[in-house]
Amino acid sequence: MNLRDCALNVIMLGPPGAGKGTQAERLARTRLVPKISTGDILREAGQAGTELGRAANVTMSAGNLVGDDIMIGIVQERLDRTDARHGFVLDGFPRTVVQASALDRMIEGRGPLVVLDMVVPEEELVRRLAIRRICSKCGANAAPEWTTACGKCGASLVTRVDDGIDIVRERLKVYLRQTKPLVDYYSARPSFRAIDGNQAPDVVTAAVDEALEAACRGAAQ
Ligand SMILES: [Zn+2]
Repeated sequence: MNLRDCALNVIMLGPPGAGKGTQAERLARTRLVPKISTGDILREAGQAGTELGRAANVTMSAGNLVGDDIMIGIVQERLDRTDARHGFVLDGFPRTVVQASALDRMIEGRGPLVVLDMVVPEEELVRRLAIRRICSKCGANAAPEWTTACGKCGASLVTRVDDGIDIVRERLKVYLRQTKPLVDYYSARPSFRAIDGNQAPDVVTAAVDEALEAACRGAAQ
């Protein structure tokens, strides 16, 4: 079976720093499906001042995660658009089991859901997060060639070192604790694949491709 014949419904699990964003972008570019990042959607809505954006801003500025209902609504709306009918790569969703089971209902009849879990040892994640530069305004991950300013919006770049290593480490622990039930929810499925994210990005991309082929073959049987 050719991968082209297989609906490419992909979600990426894994903690911040595991390389989800990079791999999701590559997949979207090579497979011609939209990359759907709930973080981007929330940021754009916040900047545009929509009702959704205002609600999300209030929640996030209080230091809370945006609730399941809002997140599910955002993703449902996005997946209903025509460009997502033949596949998508989701980054940042689902974050909870409630969101995961809502996603299962949303894509009923659209082919299998491929779940890629990016696995990277904690020490490596801490190292990556500490040196990672992000835009202080739009949140974009800095490309290597951006020296001081964001290549998308021109705002200044900041590093997580400013937060302190202990805070980075604590954030990771919270993330892993919160998403463990999600991994449990998916891990028994044949279309679940753990990907070793502790390798060069190109090697990870090859592993992702291989996992997609295998998942499509499994779905065809
Ligand atoms: Zn920016």
